[in-house]
Parts: sequence; structure tokens; C-alpha cells
Amino acid sequence: MTNQELMQEDLKYIFHPCSQMKDHETLPLIPIKKAKNSYIEDFDRNKYLDCISSWWVNIFGHSNDYINKKINEQLQNLEHVIFAGFTHEPAINLAKRLVNLTPQPLEKLFFADNGSSAIEISLKMSFQYFKNKGLSRPLFISLQNSYHGETMGALAVSDTGLYKDIYEDILLKTVQAKSPALHHEDEAIEDMKRVLNKHKTQVSCVIIEPLVQCAGSMKMYDASYITKLRSLCDEFGIFLIADEVAVGFGRTGTMFAIEQAKVSPDFLCLSKGITGGYMPLSVVLFTQDIYDAFYCDYNEGKSFLDSHSYTGNTLACSVANAVLDIFEKENTIKTNQIKIKQIQNLTSKFNYLTNVLEVRQRGMICAIELRGYDTSRRIGLEIFQKALKQGVYIRPLGNIIYFMPPYCFTKIQIEKMIETTYDIILTLDKG
Ligand SMILES: *Cc1c(COP(=O)(O)O)cnc(C)c1O
Repeated sequence: MTNQELMQEDLKYIFHPCSQMKDHETLPLIPIKKAKNSYIEDFDRNKYLDCISSWWVNIFGHSNDYINKKINEQLQNLEHVIFAGFTHEPAINLAKRLVNLTPQPLEKLFFADNGSSAIEISLKMSFQYFKNKGLSRPLFISLQNSYHGETMGALAVSDTGLYKDIYEDILLKTVQAKSPALHHEDEAIEDMKRVLNKHKTQVSCVIIEPLVQCAGSMKMYDASYITKLRSLCDEFGIFLIADEVAVGFGRTGTMFAIEQAKVSPDFLCLSKGITGGYMPLSVVLFTQDIYDAFYCDYNEGKSFLDSHSYTGNTLACSVANAVLDIFEKENTIKTNQIKIKQIQNLTSKFNYLTNVLEVRQRGMICAIELRGYDTSRRIGLEIFQKALKQGVYIRPLGNIIYFMPPYCFTKIQIEKMIETTYDIILTLDKG
């Protein structure tokens, strides 16, 4: 089959995510035949350097030999089993390892199967914790410009108009405080204080994306905001939820972004990189105190009755264990520091381009914000198409070009990713 033939077949049946299907009248859909390490290959034998880790999930490259071996081993024994009343070794090992890796107050863990579900679970548990103690606290606080997923609860705490506005009438009521990524840190903290004072006894939690608001145009802020927010949450007696679905597992230079603030959240949501891009899986870690609030005799009615058919999927858990093995074996957090420095050095020259507003970076996430282009021009799409012709796959967010490569990128691949993009931006005609 060729790309063209497969695309025709696809368009007969499938509605793709995050896409306007009409775009595909002119914009080809790319059928992928295979992928290995940093490259994906289509049916016309074109190879593309995967500079965004296949939507931020594929942290150790495609078809990774070690992960393949581990998933094959697991497949010989057990693929999946109901997780209520039953358990299995991959889940137990994974839970133990994650509890040991994350900040000390996080001692218990709940499984789900995607980022949005992890967010739903943390919100439901926050609310029910107080409910179980006889209090009603139905209000969730989040930050402006935030993105927490697209199921109804996750969407309600998000602030990305493009995804959310249409559903406004049917969403939970939430309040957004100023984001430290868009305002001075002190101003953002003051605004959070104002919001909390106003709604005080109604609020159960504040949810944030630590350090980088990824879907919100890769806007970044300092760890000191999180440290201050932690104190504020303690002062008001409410939970802090860290949504590390995107930034967890080494993305910002440390295993978890929250480490840089030297505090612990009450809930930590993880997904995306957790299985190296192999299987859908997410987890929510939380404190013993939270766990205890749901621990009672069955008839007391305080149980947390949340479940998904694929909760604690065995293959997914064993893949996640393989991912943690690689972090240990290859000392990834340390070896990434060299790549982080290389990205920083190579992208500094973007600052001298007149059509570049800002270059920003946190660890293995680097964003280049363009200026002077009208939104109607779809400049990101233009750059995407030009890069793709040269075998480089990037997926700009509007006028934000960003790199989120897998950690297996070599020095030469990092160079290729950045130099190709640089040449494209350099030769773009102005807005
Ligand atoms: C992707 C993402 C989610 C949602 O995860 P899904 O697996 O796509 O449902 C939630 N929060 C953040 C910060 C994300 O980047």
C-alpha cells in the first residue's frame, strides 16, 4: 500500500483527534508503517525525526529493544486481569517504585488509563475527602492558561478557550487565578490569595501544571511559585494537585518537576512518559491521610468507587517498570543534562531573529515563540510542512515552535532538529 491509498481508506471511516477533518482535503494524513528509536517511517519510505516524542509520550524512542523484550516476557504469562479483588506483580512493583521515587508524603497510589482520568480521580478524591468529613467543598481552583485534559472535569479546570468555550454551559464551576507563567510571580500569588479568601470554605483543591503549561503555548514559570503556593494551600487547609502528566519522568531536567520546588503536592498525577509511549496508563499518588479518609466499614459509604475496565493493566504496568529500569540503567536524568545544555547552546541564536519574540527552555522542553504573524496565516502549519519535507517532524502550537525530543536523541539528531527549524524560520517571509 502507498501513503495515498491508505489515506483514502482512513478518511472513509476515521475521525481523528485534535483535527479539523476538512483540513485533510489539502493536508495529507501520514500513514506510518514502522518506527525505530528516533525515527518514524511512512508507507512511501520517508523517514521523520520525531522531535515531539509522538505527542510527548515516547521518551526512550520507538520500538525500544529493552522495552520490547520486557513486554514480550510479560505477554507469555499474563496480559491483563480484573484489578478489583485481584492483583499482580507488575502493578505491585510499579506502585512500590513510584512511591519510592516521588516525594516522601506520597505513600499510596491509584491506577487509571490516561492523563484525563488521573485528573478526574484527583478532583473526585479531593471533593470526597471533605465530603467524608462532613464538609461540602465543591469548588476547584486552577490557573489561567492551564490544560488538564478534555474529559468534562479535566476540561472544567482547564483554561484553553479553544477546547473549552463551547462546553461552558455544561461544565463544573471552577475559578482560575493568574498564572505565574503570564504574570509576575508575586502578582500571581496575590491573585491566588484573593481567590482563596473570596471562596474559602467552598474550595477543596488547587490544581497546577508544575513549571510548564505545555498545551498552553509552552509557557514557563519558576519553582519558587510552587513553593509559595504550597504554603498558601496549607494555610487554607486545601489540597495541592500537581498535574505532571506532561512534565513528569525527566522532562524538566529532574525526575519530577515538583522536586525543584522542594515541596510535595497532596496528589501527583502521572501519565504520558510513564510507559515510554507504548501503552495507555496513568497513576495518581497521594498521602496516607487522604487514603485514611476513605478507609472504613463498607456500609459507612465512604468508599472511593472509581474504576475503569483496564485499571492496572498488566502489560502497561510491566512496560512502566521497564521504563523505570532504563532510567536506572542509563542514569537518564544525569545524561540528559548534556543534551539540555546542547539544546540551550544551539537555540540561543534564535534570539537574534527579528521574527522571534522569545526562546524559553525547561530541561528537555524548548519553545520558540514567533512574532508578527497574523493568526489567519497558520504559520505553525506552514513550518510543520516545510520541516516535514526535510525529514523533521515538529508540531507547532500556533506561533509557538517547540522541541520535546525523546531522550535517545543523539547529538547529531538534536543538531538536525534545531538547524532545520532555524533555517526555516530564517527564510520565512515576514508577517
Ligand atoms: C496530555 C495532558 C493531560 C491529559 O492526558 P490524556 O492522556 O491526553 O488524557 C492532562 N494534563 C496535562 C498537563 C497534559 O499535558
